[in-house]
Amino acid sequence: MSCNGPIDAAILADYWLGALAGPEEESLEEHLLGCDYCGARLLEVITLAEGVQRLAREGCLRMVVSDVFLQRAAEDGLHVREYAPAPGGSVQCTVTEDDDLVIGRLAADVTGARRVDLCLCDERGVEQVRLQDIPVRAGSASVAWQESSPFMRAAPSMTLIARLVATDEAGTEQLLGEYTFRHTRSLPGPGSW
Ligand SMILES: [Zn+2]
Repeated sequence: MSCNGPIDAAILADYWLGALAGPEEESLEEHLLGCDYCGARLLEVITLAEGVQRLAREGCLRMVVSDVFLQRAAEDGLHVREYAPAPGGSVQCTVTEDDDLVIGRLAADVTGARRVDLCLCDERGVEQVRLQDIPVRAGSASVAWQESSPFMRAAPSMTLIARLVATDEAGTEQLLGEYTFRHTRSLPGPGSW
């Protein structure tokens, strides 16, 4: 089994989530009808995605999520807490035990970016974690970053700086936006005061 133009795994995942635009979905289905190779890969993607989806739906993962995902979560009765600081701005935030999903909505123009990374930095701006090559949709005005809600519930009060960075082919980085989250712990436990 082989394929001359294998469909990207991210596209297959979007297809399974029902997130593809009509014409894109049609041409993909046409391809899948005639291609056992990509059909088999779709099954792999579904198996993987179901595991990831379950963790994501439990709010356990730090990941970038789509608006379709958030819409479905809300429809299913999950409580989504969302903060949307302006680029260059900051926001006061917290997490309560009622929150299933915690979202930082990062407004940025990602048009034309070849690769976008999400960098999470401490209060001095020193990078701690980088999510490389996050999924961004052309024409989308923002990135929805889901922080692990168990992690945030356990975290002490702290300031976290998120940065969206575009990287071009030569590896040159360009800052798309910086967003400051001033987290106040609202649950009792270690680190609270
Ligand atoms: Zn194929």
